Amino acid sequence: MGISDTLVLEAMNNVPRHFFFDAAFIGYAYENKPFSIGCGQTISQPYTVAKQSELLNINRKNLKVLEIGTGSGYQAAILSKMGAKVFSIERQRDLYFKTKKLLEVLAPRVQCFLGDGYKGLPPYAPFDRIIVTAAAPYIPDDLILQLKEGGVMVIPVNAGSGQQIMTKLEKLDNGDVVKSTHGDFNFVPLLENVK
Ligand code: SAH
Repeated sequence: MGISDTLVLEAMNNVPRHFFFDAAFIGYAYENKPFSIGCGQTISQPYTVAKQSELLNINRKNLKVLEIGTGSGYQAAILSKMGAKVFSIERQRDLYFKTKKLLEVLAPRVQCFLGDGYKGLPPYAPFDRIIVTAAAPYIPDDLILQLKEGGVMVIPVNAGSGQQIMTKLEKLDNGDVVKSTHGDFNFVPLLENVK
């Protein structure tokens, strides 16, 4: 489907997606489709995971990557396999606890946080890369501020059509931000107002 980054393809070959499914549904794990993971959320489609991972341009080991929307943990595990040091935020308590436990076994370098992704993770900023895995109504300023100069953010932004435009932001060394777009996708919404 046009993914050529060998690091992405190797990680996707080596991280079994069925580990992120409930046992009753593992028969669906290798379809190129999103799937319900409970709490009204979904594990992203494999193509979407590959596309976002490729756009992030993981070109060195140990890049600090902030993920918004831990969900099943699959995207975080892929990035970890690619050599990134992943910090992942989830707003839903049940998913946070469930996935944190799973990732402790499957991808122990991933650090999980319960919180509001719109705010990022100031104590751990700045980040080399930021990936948002839910549909954003706009690009949160806090996230732009927490991106290093020379860094990349990949975020699906609502287009008004019910779909999102995959948007890549590159922060230049002088602090300017350059945007490019990479096709239409469908995500669950990035929700505000965490209690
Ligand atoms: N990356 C995930 C896909 C998760 S779907 C995977 O690989 O499975 C999007 C996730 O974003 C959901 O789990 C949802 O609860 C979470 N989410 C929504 N709004 C959020 C917010 N403001 N902060 C953090 N997480 C959020």
